[in-house]
Amino acid sequence: MSKQLFSEQLLQWFDIAGRKDLPWQQDISPYRVWVSEIMLQQTQVSTVIPYYLRFMARFPDIASLALAPNDEVLALWTGLGYYARARNLHKAAKMICEDFGGVFPGDPETIQTLPGIGRSTAAAIYSIAIGGRAPILDGNVKRVLSRYAAIDGWPGIKDIESQLWLLAEDLTPKKRVADYTQAIMDLGATLCTRSKPKCPECPVQSGCEAYAAGTQTNYPGKKPKKATPVREIHLLIIENAAGEILLEQRPNSGIWGGLWSLPEAVDFDTAAHYLKNTLNAKGQIQAWPNMRHTFSHFHLDITPLHIKLKADISTIMEPREMLWYKGHSNQQVGLAAPVKKLLDAVFSQDLLRKHSA
Ligand code: SF4
Repeated sequence: MSKQLFSEQLLQWFDIAGRKDLPWQQDISPYRVWVSEIMLQQTQVSTVIPYYLRFMARFPDIASLALAPNDEVLALWTGLGYYARARNLHKAAKMICEDFGGVFPGDPETIQTLPGIGRSTAAAIYSIAIGGRAPILDGNVKRVLSRYAAIDGWPGIKDIESQLWLLAEDLTPKKRVADYTQAIMDLGATLCTRSKPKCPECPVQSGCEAYAAGTQTNYPGKKPKKATPVREIHLLIIENAAGEILLEQRPNSGIWGGLWSLPEAVDFDTAAHYLKNTLNAKGQIQAWPNMRHTFSHFHLDITPLHIKLKADISTIMEPREMLWYKGHSNQQVGLAAPVKKLLDAVFSQDLLRKHSA
């Protein structure tokens, strides 16, 4: 990978194909670039343009923004979303007036002390509006660089982000930094897009490792998925002499709210306690093979416990909504999916035969 070649190829492309007529590319000043950079975070260029023009017409400079009522700033932001951006912009304008004599700071370290401005945004303002050399690393640039150098891993991981910053630093040229900054942002936004990058048109294709390997869309690495939590319950298949199964109505809140379900127990011992103290009944408890039901946010691992009652239940110690399910299609009750699956298996006789043998 030739570092010099990268910036040369990019700048040649920018001279021919780069965007140069966007509103914030005219009458360039730190203030105008700053507002555009903040608006462009999480928002597309075409959406930003009319907001930017209205904002600049009303607040042409830092002082007019600093003096504006908060409500007016937010009103001009309405529809752009992420309103913390507008609040920080307003707060930073006041800070510049109070702490820096109304003059935008001239170095990236001080720029970064303003509310809502991180390292990459500070570098973009510094390079584009002031002409200083500082690398940027916004979302688009992370994508370009991780593909170009085939850097594996999610950029949210500190180590990966550090590698990308080092590469960004290495690749940033000493001259024409403002154009280079604009060019690499344009490359990410127009050619090196998230899906279906336009590699045949890309100026840096010859040195791109992901392109050479045909693995462009593997980069940047995805955020690791959190392991789905697992909850465990025991469901009691309590069978009377007539082969009917006891169902309870669940409370309206919580999973399967209001549906009919098999009685639930935390473990074998609580199942035995339920049988003795709630149902006032006796029976042999036998564990059946586990089954898993997956909800959007967790897996439910169900251990079915089959209990064949020794005698029919005469009195139930606690008042509950209960019924004996006969498995007839004309017995209409709302059942949770895994409970239905279990009952279907029970009434198809497969399980009962297999386990009562
Ligand atoms: S060749 Fe393709 S993947 Fe590589 S930087 Fe260019 S557009 Fe991105």
